[in-house]
Amino acid sequence: MSGLSSSSCVVLVGGGVASAAAGAGLRVQGYDGRVVLVSDELHLPYERPPLSKEYLSGKFDVADFQTHPEGWYAENEIEVLLGTRVSSVDPVARRVTLSDGAALEYDALVLATGVRARALPGFTGDRVHSIRSITDTERLASRLTQSQHLAILGAGFIGCEVAAIAAAQGVRVTVFEPAPVPLARALGADFGRTMVDIHADHGVEIRSGHQVTSMTETDDGLLLHTADGETIACDELLVGVGSIPNTELAVAAGLRIDEATGGIATDEFGRTSDPRIYAIGDVASRLHPILGRAIRVEHHDTAQRHGANVAANILGHEEPFSDAPYFWSDQYDHSLKALGHAGPDATTVIRGSVEDRCFSVFSLEDGRVTAVATLDRPRDLMATRKLLGVPHQATAEQLADEGFDLKALLPQRPRTRPNGARQSGVCPSEACS
Ligand SMILES: Cc1cc2nc3c(=O)[nH]c(=O)nc-3n(C[C@H](O)[C@H](O)[C@H](O)COP(=O)(O)OP(=O)(O)OC[C@H]3O[C@@H](n4cnc5c(N)ncnc54)[C@H](O)[C@@H]3O)c2cc1C
Repeated sequence: MSGLSSSSCVVLVGGGVASAAAGAGLRVQGYDGRVVLVSDELHLPYERPPLSKEYLSGKFDVADFQTHPEGWYAENEIEVLLGTRVSSVDPVARRVTLSDGAALEYDALVLATGVRARALPGFTGDRVHSIRSITDTERLASRLTQSQHLAILGAGFIGCEVAAIAAAQGVRVTVFEPAPVPLARALGADFGRTMVDIHADHGVEIRSGHQVTSMTETDDGLLLHTADGETIACDELLVGVGSIPNTELAVAAGLRIDEATGGIATDEFGRTSDPRIYAIGDVASRLHPILGRAIRVEHHDTAQRHGANVAANILGHEEPFSDAPYFWSDQYDHSLKALGHAGPDATTVIRGSVEDRCFSVFSLEDGRVTAVATLDRPRDLMATRKLLGVPHQATAEQLADEGFDLKALLPQRPRTRPNGARQSGVCPSEACS
């Protein structure tokens, strides 16, 4: 598509950050046609990370994490249909049907339908929770005030964040994780073990290698039954065992689905197998121009960047997307951050002190840093962000040596001081504080 006229219409499906960023991107980049954002939620588009952090703990109000204030949509002439589901897409007629029976014709359609929490068969009922929306968080928060014992299935990021908030509110928390070490697949075993210890210090028990297989409801709570024959009583249960991409609309419309990732397949510009339909955010399985394969990323930052990028591509700019995935998680007073995409053959190198719970795990491939995961070491992340974008050669010894300044790996450009003298661009290395 080589751009759109002012009489055209772009329909954005979804009430998340990707959809809102696409709307903003269209206006910022000068599109003056019609933009309609359709969301099946009752709230204006909002950011989901605070749902298991500041909103659950009561630190934030909803207005604190809306992507844009209410008046912004009218100012930017973005029509917002809340509580409305897109129930079908007709790619031939270029029309979507809405849950209220209305229809919208589009010149470009953006599917930003996100993912939903994976449900576990047999784990349902009033005391069983998942967190994906403001409503979910409000329900869990109201229960935590009376809860004596919260059990959590899955020690992923959401499970661990909720555990930290509940523990801070004086609730006993037990987390069941089938894997031998939690978070190891995403961040490595050192991270996983360190997080288990941090949680233990706050009274949260993470039972690694334990699987809850069924549950029974009693008059005053739940009984959880584990694979090794134990029965544990709790009064509320959070199921945090992953997510499922919302691809149903795309499947019914005949769009190609990437079987490897489960997402809607797109090219490097975000275009699906129908050139008028784009997919962005968590639901999109997007061809990565450097990796040469499609990846599906469930991170806030990527979803937001996809939004701005797809706006450019709808307007005919043909911009591939290769931004490194970036993720953060806050637990107690610790900050985990991860950046980049490590291949399966990457060598991992630790910088800092695992014992002191202040370290980074670098991924090194063919002498290049391709990813990093940091615990309370933001500067390692910043250094990596710079490295990912430029040619460089690094060794495991350099990365592990805290006396070695990572900035020295950057291509050295001569810099001039005001008095004309050159400086090296190297400054003292980061130390944990
Ligand atoms: C509790 C929680 C904590 C998180 N914490 C972090 C974090 O710390 N750091 C981080 O990087 N990421 C975090 N994430 C992930 C991050 O929030 C997601 O990557 C991001 O929300 C993806 O945005 P999206 O717009 O693609 O999808 P979503 O935010 O999932 O939005 C999809 C929207 O589409 C709507 N929708 C679906 N189908 C239809 C339809 N047919 N019609 C109309 N509307 C429809 C949905 O209701 C929803 O409004 C967290 C996620 C959750 C749930």
